[in-house]
Amino acid sequence: MTQEQWGALQDRLSDTIGENNYKAWIKPLEYNGVEDDGVAVFLVPTNFIGTYVSQNFGDLLLSHLTSVDGQVRRLQFRVANNQRPATARPKPAPQPPAAQGDLLPGAPLDGRFTFDSFVVGKPNELAHAAARRVGEGGTVTFNPLFLYGGVGLGKTHLMHAIAWELRTRRPDLNVLYLSAEQFMYRFVQALRERKMMDFKELFRSVDVLMVDDVQFIAGKDSTQEEFFHTFNALVDQNKQIIISADRAPDEIKDLENRIRSRLQSGLVVDLHPTDYELRLGILQSKVQNYRTQYPSLQLEDNILEFLAHRISTNVRVLEGALTRLFAFASLVGQPITMELTQDCLADVLRASDRKISIEEIQRKVAEHYNIRLSDLIGPKRVRNFARPRQVAMYLCKQLTSRSLPEIGRRFGGRDHTTVMHGVKRIEELRGQDSQIADDVELLRRALEA
Ligand code: ADP
Ligand code: MG
Repeated sequence: MTQEQWGALQDRLSDTIGENNYKAWIKPLEYNGVEDDGVAVFLVPTNFIGTYVSQNFGDLLLSHLTSVDGQVRRLQFRVANNQRPATARPKPAPQPPAAQGDLLPGAPLDGRFTFDSFVVGKPNELAHAAARRVGEGGTVTFNPLFLYGGVGLGKTHLMHAIAWELRTRRPDLNVLYLSAEQFMYRFVQALRERKMMDFKELFRSVDVLMVDDVQFIAGKDSTQEEFFHTFNALVDQNKQIIISADRAPDEIKDLENRIRSRLQSGLVVDLHPTDYELRLGILQSKVQNYRTQYPSLQLEDNILEFLAHRISTNVRVLEGALTRLFAFASLVGQPITMELTQDCLADVLRASDRKISIEEIQRKVAEHYNIRLSDLIGPKRVRNFARPRQVAMYLCKQLTSRSLPEIGRRFGGRDHTTVMHGVKRIEELRGQDSQIADDVELLRRALEA
């Protein structure tokens, strides 16, 4: 990537993350070229900025960079004067015990992704239990363990946790963790360098093989083929295999049928979208960590509840928001109030707002009360339609950033005062009628999930 390309990219970044963020975090970066191994280097004035950018804008930056320059694989932030790499995380978590017999060139494990730091709730309890079991390193009972779920729900975290656990409990085992992309990369490299024998030997000598994001090999025929052989060879030797993907085996397109059925032959468990309780639990556990990092920082009541309600199901987004909030508050030296939160996270809150649309709310509410969408929106005033309509209006007001007139328009061109009345009515009823309160809570959860 040239400096000109970086210049153009900066403009786009400024549009995406907003001018304030851009000025505070991206502008101070000095682009220093791409090194041979695909590492794009940025010079930063302080370690803190490097860390912050890597945590909060790392993925975004990387995806922009790779779209401009296919060579780029990683980012590195170096403090401008001494050129040492900035640590990627603000607080290095205590490293789990060092690996033994760790000669296999797997991807590095993240020290923060352990079972201790994984918060368990309804949406992930099954996946967690299965991961725990495999992490014990006992007899292989289900093979493979196939974990799937949407982005940021903890698949990689669980896989790393299994690997850490196995390294402690079963240091005799060769555990290899890598992404499907890395598998392909190694495979292609082996082909090119005529080292297929070494490649096969290496992969067949592991005791536990973990391949993350396996959907990546869909449509890549020779990689699939090799993966299939590796897989079979290991299963035949009763070696444990753990796979993750962003969807269920039968939903991965362009995957050979024999691979699909192999993947389904063990235990398939999914990580469901987070719910409010899980999000709150995760936030609370992260705040505990921050307390050591920012001991003097004050956090007003209800902030975490607010974030758990308002921020989407992706835990990565949730974490990013919290990190930014703490960093920002400590920079400006102020307590974390509701006002500061809304200010600092305006873009995140807006982005997650957009996720729930008025149509979606209307559909869900109609479904819930078992009435037709046309009746929900239409002119009829009978109680059976009017109450659900008010619930829907209330939810639109709570869960979207639409104005009352806008909401009115979308409910068959009603006046904004009608909407206001409906919203008020439900607010009152929530306190008096537990059925309504339950309905609203249930719908809110379904919509936010
Ligand atoms: P995925 O691989 O499913 O896209 P990750 O495992 O990378 O998601 O998780 C995204 C981020 O969210 C990570 O920082 C991870 O530690 C965190 N995370 C996800 N689920 C949990 C959880 N249940 N408890 C604590 N942290 C979590
Ligand atoms: Mg992942």
